[in-house]
Amino acid sequence: MMFLPTRTAALDRLAQFAPQAGRAYASQRNYDRPAHDDVSRLSPYLRHRMITEDEVLTSVLAHHSAAAAEKFIQEVYWRTYWKGWLEQRPSVSANYRMGLNAALNRVQTEAGLRAEWEAACSGDTGIACFDAWAHELADTGYLHNHARMWFASIWIFTLRLPWELGADFFLRHLLDGDPASNTLGWRWVAGVQTVGKTYLARPDNIAKYTEGRFQPAGLATWAAPLDAAPNPDRGQVPVSGVVPSGTFGHLITEDDLSPGWIFDHVTPTQTAAFNGTQYRSPLAVATQVDQFVEAAIEDLSARIAAPLARPRTPLQIDEWATQNGLDAIVMSYSPVGGTADALTQVKTPIISLVRPHDADAWPYASAGFFKFKAKIPKLLARYDAQMRLL
Ligand SMILES: Cc1cc2nc3c(=O)[nH]c(=O)nc-3n(C[C@H](O)[C@H](O)[C@H](O)COP(=O)(O)OP(=O)(O)OC[C@H]3O[C@@H](n4cnc5c(N)ncnc54)[C@H](O)[C@@H]3O)c2cc1C
Repeated sequence: MMFLPTRTAALDRLAQFAPQAGRAYASQRNYDRPAHDDVSRLSPYLRHRMITEDEVLTSVLAHHSAAAAEKFIQEVYWRTYWKGWLEQRPSVSANYRMGLNAALNRVQTEAGLRAEWEAACSGDTGIACFDAWAHELADTGYLHNHARMWFASIWIFTLRLPWELGADFFLRHLLDGDPASNTLGWRWVAGVQTVGKTYLARPDNIAKYTEGRFQPAGLATWAAPLDAAPNPDRGQVPVSGVVPSGTFGHLITEDDLSPGWIFDHVTPTQTAAFNGTQYRSPLAVATQVDQFVEAAIEDLSARIAAPLARPRTPLQIDEWATQNGLDAIVMSYSPVGGTADALTQVKTPIISLVRPHDADAWPYASAGFFKFKAKIPKLLARYDAQMRLL
């Protein structure tokens, strides 16, 4: 198994990787080598916050100056940026879900499209690199970033399949399946995120960065941006709710499996963990995705040595709250995505607290990454202060 679903495994990987997060990472990170040891492979852990950005950045800054690790630090902040961008434009996620439902309806009625979609998902297109990545994703739950870009580009511009079906295929199979990074990553490749700017997978680029493992022929040579509405105006940045006095339950979700920081704000009487992987897609998620989150929750339960209630639906969350006489549920903020959608059906009041890492950064995710990137040195000041305390 490439990703053990425990916090210990996440910390081990971070300890192993941090020394190479400087110039080695910057020069080698674009190579899609089979072992993927030029990149951190921390994403399944970071996505579920089995380790946090705080821990990753603090560890990396203990080994490198911010300048030497600039590239890696920027990548860590890409996830933060995408989340903050989507938080301020949730209709982009709703439109993706509508586009996905429309594409799934077409799949039901158009036999040709259905056959092409199934061939793409099962790695049976005859395009060797694409098929290999489809198998790798199904087998391991992970793909290198460059492979994700090439795969999405071939899906959209060579196979001419709806991009929403590709985003859904990723979200159902990636252990790190993240509504913001995934939806916006696909939109970026399709040319609807940075409007008019597409990403074309080029055979020479694939050959170079797979070190000749793949030398594809017959790929699209032109990537015309897909039609799309302009990006919506920016809305509010979420802020933490206020915790009044009362009896509270603590709800843990797959969006934050390091919930200790919540106890700085509230002393809950009960704790429950909600695995919301089934809400990632209208279709079934891959078994290994659900099992990864289940095992990560079990690992957390063993670490906090407290019995966890295990609701699997919004209704069961309300039943847990009622049975335990809770006035409200307190939780770490769940960003735009399937879990947050499911929680809108919970009737018990929910007070969400936004982690300082997100609260500091999200307001800057107002426009493109270039503008956001300029704020990273300021955002890192928090980590300098933490380092001085070590
Ligand atoms: C079409 C497409 C879909 C994607 N879908 C997802 C997804 O569902 N979930 C997901 O976590 N990432 C997604 N990414 C982003 C990126 O590919 C992965 O985060 C990265 O490959 C994870 O591998 P790593 O941990 O070895 O990365 P490293 O290169 O070691 O990077 C370190 C960390 O930085 C963050 N990061 C790196 N690159 C990106 C990026 N481009 N966008 C956002 N964060 C990044 C991740 O947290 C990662 O763990 C997608 C990218 C594309 C192009």
